[in-house]
Amino acid sequence: MDFKPANNIQDLQYFGEFGGVNPSISDSSTYTFLKAKTMFDTFEGNTDGCYLYSRHTSPSNLYLGEALAAMEGTETANVAGSGMGAITATILQICGAGDHIVSSRTIYGGTYAFLKNFTPRMNIETSFVDITKLDVIEAAINEQTKMIYCESVSNPLLEVADINALAALAKKYNLKLVVDNTFSPLSISPIQFGADVVIHSLTKFINGSSDTMGGVVCASTDFINSQKSVINGASMLLGSSMDSLRSSSILKNMRTLHIRIKKHSENATYLANKFEADGLKTVYPGLKSHPSHEVFKSMMNEEYGFGGMLTIDVGSLDKANALMELMQEKNLGYLAVSLGFYKTLFSAPGTSTSSEIPEDEQAQMGLTDGLIRFSIGLDNDIERTYQMMKQCMLEVGVLKQEVLV
Ligand SMILES: *Cc1c(COP(=O)(O)O)cnc(C)c1O
Repeated sequence: MDFKPANNIQDLQYFGEFGGVNPSISDSSTYTFLKAKTMFDTFEGNTDGCYLYSRHTSPSNLYLGEALAAMEGTETANVAGSGMGAITATILQICGAGDHIVSSRTIYGGTYAFLKNFTPRMNIETSFVDITKLDVIEAAINEQTKMIYCESVSNPLLEVADINALAALAKKYNLKLVVDNTFSPLSISPIQFGADVVIHSLTKFINGSSDTMGGVVCASTDFINSQKSVINGASMLLGSSMDSLRSSSILKNMRTLHIRIKKHSENATYLANKFEADGLKTVYPGLKSHPSHEVFKSMMNEEYGFGGMLTIDVGSLDKANALMELMQEKNLGYLAVSLGFYKTLFSAPGTSTSSEIPEDEQAQMGLTDGLIRFSIGLDNDIERTYQMMKQCMLEVGVLKQEVLV
């Protein structure tokens, strides 16, 4: 595999309006025309390089989209005001009344709620499946199915989708394969394995400073143009657009993405190995014990590692809460949802980010009460972090003091 996502980003060259090393921010929601005829033509989509109104597009949004398309290896990309803005506009672009979706059952809580509770109002039905079981997925496909939806590395259980195999199924039944790659930017490049559309929440690793929301759809020019159509495009008409100030700040943060991802992965690998050796039930795609370790390895752009997300199961919600509160007190990270921050973030998904999923379904998919999801930060001295975390685990009884003989 010699796809080089970070090189592709780096090879883009930007010049600002006044020769600045950063592109100028287009601080306007609307744009003037010298001739009325040009305005009409722009509305019709017949003028390259002309801007009309910022919900359609803006120079800053195009710059950011260009970098994200380069990263994922797609013809183009369209940024959105949030990850959910990108996801909902993609699902509703592909599916309408009477259509059917086959989706992984372990996905972001918001996406799950959208498919489970919202789209049925439009007569769009979804079958939720174990995305690692290809026979189950194939059996769920019917005449009305339009899309297979999954996350390359799933939230919060860190199941890994075999994108090659899913793409083959999608092709066989003429479906679109849509992959949310939020947990594994740079590490996995789904388009290389046959995905049709790749989505990110930019709010997480890609921006990496937990100061803004954002989303993106990376796909073919045809698909993105259909989403942006003023006549019937889902992203245009649902209106989840990004502001230019934000797209310019996210573009700047993308320049360090490769360095950050390597460090997130290095630190998470170190902790996952230590936690597992201590006897904690640890899930991390980089561990040999992970059921999809080999699948991840077969897809990964090696230098970026297995990502910054890991989970441990400490047995009960009480213990999970006690541990998280103590770790925050010791300044080892924050008890917060979201991911990709420079500090470690931890939360118990069952009562937070996945609380949209009913309890019995949580149990079915293996989402237990004692599960803690970690987004491992950029700590310079991860060994010290580990020692301090271990101390916390001993204090709250998640680990037992070793008896010295
Ligand atoms: C956060 C997240 C989303 C939603 O993104 P927002 O920017 O919060 O709208 C979607 N998918 C995954 C995997 C996420 O982690």
